[in-house]
Amino acid sequence: MSAIERSKKSTLLLIVLALSGSGAARADDLDSVAATLIERGLATHQAWELVRSLTVEAGSRFAGSSGDARGVAWAERTMRELGLENVRTEPVTVPHWIRGEAEVAILSPWAHDLVAVALGGSVGTPEAGIEAEVVQVSDLDALEALPDAAVAGKIVFFNRRMERRRDGSDYGPTVQPRGRGPSAAAKRGAVAVVIRSVGTGPHRFAHTGATRYEDGVIKIPAAALAVPDADILEAQLESDRPVRLLLRLTARRLPDAQSANVVGEVVGSERPEEIVLLAAHLDSWDVGTGAHDDGAGVAVVLQAARLVLSLPRRPRRTIRVLLTANEEFGLSGATAYGEAYAEQMGDHVLGVESDLGGGRVWRFATRVNEGALPFMRRVHALLEPLGVEWHGDAAWGGADLKPLREAKAPLADLSADATSYFDYHHTQDDTVDKIDPDDIAQHSTVYAVLAWAVADGDVEPRPAPAVPARR
Ligand SMILES: [Zn+2]
Repeated sequence: MSAIERSKKSTLLLIVLALSGSGAARADDLDSVAATLIERGLATHQAWELVRSLTVEAGSRFAGSSGDARGVAWAERTMRELGLENVRTEPVTVPHWIRGEAEVAILSPWAHDLVAVALGGSVGTPEAGIEAEVVQVSDLDALEALPDAAVAGKIVFFNRRMERRRDGSDYGPTVQPRGRGPSAAAKRGAVAVVIRSVGTGPHRFAHTGATRYEDGVIKIPAAALAVPDADILEAQLESDRPVRLLLRLTARRLPDAQSANVVGEVVGSERPEEIVLLAAHLDSWDVGTGAHDDGAGVAVVLQAARLVLSLPRRPRRTIRVLLTANEEFGLSGATAYGEAYAEQMGDHVLGVESDLGGGRVWRFATRVNEGALPFMRRVHALLEPLGVEWHGDAAWGGADLKPLREAKAPLADLSADATSYFDYHHTQDDTVDKIDPDDIAQHSTVYAVLAWAVADGDVEPRPAPAVPARR
């Protein structure tokens, strides 16, 4: 081969390389890569196996508990085994609260022991418990409407039923008294709070979840009643006789503890500093094993990374898997991530979080730059055969994506089918047998396709339109 021929050949090679880097070549690539991801993703139950491994080996992972530490160790080890790069733990200080025991009983007119659980963060009662008459309200507005005399010295019973919905949208309004009820009731002179469990199942276990005391307001104890037990209390209140309740909780706060966010990456081949963030929370409540909430999300984002790693080449941008500490009891991990990466918030090309259980993804929404929408619609077309609907450009992003949301980073919502999620949410019944292996396979496959598409695509979703202050 002459020098001229050699130089012609290398010029040709350069042209071919240049073309393969162009948008047109990548467009075809996206279809075939998505098809590969879908074929591989639906053919395996690896995501379900990950939830089983986490929930068996670490168990419940409540902030500050020994299970929390086991969860962090499991996540770090599993990320390394899956071949993620830059695997690290990042320290997070978390509150440490001990549930203790909960005893709730109707004393009159008809004595009855009730199935109950302390709300997360509740103070305990005196050792003998608190005895008082019950006043029932539907929600915070109804409490405000009562005269002080009707509330002072009483135990307030927030009795609002949660509706079963595919998008889980009745959780937001129903959960208000769980968070704000105790301080709202204390301001009116109440001595304790019980709520109907924020859940949809008929079963005889109660749903916990965080309550938040306001600064400067007396902290009164608070518990949730199982749904059938709330029905019993409601029925006794219908008798028009005074209903007296005993509430005894041994909950208490300990000094803050140490936990960690666990981070691992699929490093991008061309723009490694640009990040597609896949998030889930590693912690759980203490009562179950945190399978749907949020072992499923943990498995989904890990499995999505594993599927991408099975491809012959890396995406151009980095896919970062973030498993946060203590979402449930104060978003500690999300806050720590926002602080640790404050300078890099603008490098986030997309954030998406899986935290609505292990059901099938049925809806896709984005919050991106207008110019990126045609690309996102194209990604939706890839997801449509998996049963995913398009839901417009008003994504919220999930609790742990708060720092991204505040930085106007682009976001996506991949909504899991939550029809039965709130039967198990925050209960002792949240165990891996409640997750369908095929459903979570589909769920993780959808994440893999979206992550690949945005990490590899010729698309600039930044900056995203701001999220309205209240959803
Ligand atoms: Zn969760």
